[in-house]
Amino acid sequence: MIPASVFNGKEVALFGLGGSGIATAHALAAGGASVTAFDDNPDSVARAESEGVPVRDLHEIDWRGVSAFVLAPGVPLTHPHPHWSVDLARAVGVEIIGDIELFARERRARAPAAPFVAITGTNGKSTTTALIAHILAHAGRDTQMGGNIGRAAMTLDPPQPDRHYVVECSSYQIDLAPTLDPTVGILLNLSPDHIDRHGTMENYAAIKEHLVARSGLAVIGVDDAHCQAIADRLDRAGVTVQRLSVTGQLDDGFFADGSRLMRAGSGRAEQVASLEGIGSLRGAHNAQNALAAVAACLDIGLTPGEIQSGLESFPGLAHRMEQVARKGRVLFVNDSKATNADAAERALSSFERIYWIAGGLPKEGGIEPLRRFFPRIAKAYLVGEAAPAFAATIGEATAFEISGTIAAAVDHAARDAADDPAPEAVVLLSPACASFDQFRNFEVRGDAFREAVRSLAGTQMMGSK
Ligand code: ADP
Repeated sequence: MIPASVFNGKEVALFGLGGSGIATAHALAAGGASVTAFDDNPDSVARAESEGVPVRDLHEIDWRGVSAFVLAPGVPLTHPHPHWSVDLARAVGVEIIGDIELFARERRARAPAAPFVAITGTNGKSTTTALIAHILAHAGRDTQMGGNIGRAAMTLDPPQPDRHYVVECSSYQIDLAPTLDPTVGILLNLSPDHIDRHGTMENYAAIKEHLVARSGLAVIGVDDAHCQAIADRLDRAGVTVQRLSVTGQLDDGFFADGSRLMRAGSGRAEQVASLEGIGSLRGAHNAQNALAAVAACLDIGLTPGEIQSGLESFPGLAHRMEQVARKGRVLFVNDSKATNADAAERALSSFERIYWIAGGLPKEGGIEPLRRFFPRIAKAYLVGEAAPAFAATIGEATAFEISGTIAAAVDHAARDAADDPAPEAVVLLSPACASFDQFRNFEVRGDAFREAVRSLAGTQMMGSK
């Protein structure tokens, strides 16, 4: 835990008592602050109280004595309208911050030289965060990973000059981090998402820009117009910017040329790493994530050899194009995180011969946007509520069956794929649907896939689980 000493002797109010809220309350108390915490959910309040967090309805406190208001990232700051606690804090001009801001201040106060990589973007945040943390740890660096992935920021080990922090930041967290100043800030990409929470695309992009605006090095994927504009703007403002592209060559920056990761500058381009044969980083989207990792790790001082070795040993993240098992020439891939057509597209474009398990709770637009991948699909195995609609979309375009359940789908797909003469056939769970009709969440769905694969005779499981 990182005791939040920056509020030593001060009064701090906190709203939102989920796991990270309770951890932050403990960190503030350990640093000498006097904390008063609350939540709209009485169960959360009771749990926090049982864990020793001082709780009180924030309607009842005297806000004039409060130095800072710490808000959990899930609580509305602006849209659709500010939470009542935000109104109370604003009424007396109390600053509103989140746990990432607390972390940034604590690092500045204790160990400003501690390398700090912050990662955001619409897609690929978790993968890139895990990849960078893996490369650093693999190279023997003291590495702490957290934020929007894994451990809450204030539960990490305290800052020391040689300790490396790799922190995933959602837009909600950035919105609550006014002085965020990572050594390397990474903005991977921007596309419309969570607009309900941020009002407009422009506002959403402006929040994301904030993560890179004060960073020592700003690493920005410039394959979309929003990020391109941000890179140009920061360049003009004098920020050091490294651009990334997986769609074309750059004169200055990092780009992917097939599986080769190139660095360009001063009129020449050189290869700095290769993704050839790295199963956990297939696809152009992962090339973007890997380019970001390469740019960050080079800036921190790793050698290309250390980085290559880290890329090659990256196990990948569970449920994101995760290689689960092999049986002869058949590869089993769990992409349960693909809860919409856009995400499923990345997996479908990464493999050539696919036995596709899809369905669940359908989303607007269904699988119509995936039509151009149908020629790669040897057969589709449809599950859940979406099955009839998906069957209607597929029509005559490729073979399909209504399997009903993941277990039946795995069984049939494995049997059919075993007879495929292709050099590699893939049984792919990439549902393009939410899971809630049959599972509690996408993780449970992915676990069900893994267990169904495990129960097949003769499969060789991969990974650690
Ligand atoms: P996030 O943490 O931003 O949600 P993840 O790393 O968990 O992202 O990846 C979620 C899904 O997003 C992956 O399964 C993949 O389909 C897609 N994805 C991953 N990286 C990228 C990227 N750089 N660009 C676009 N999509 C990506």
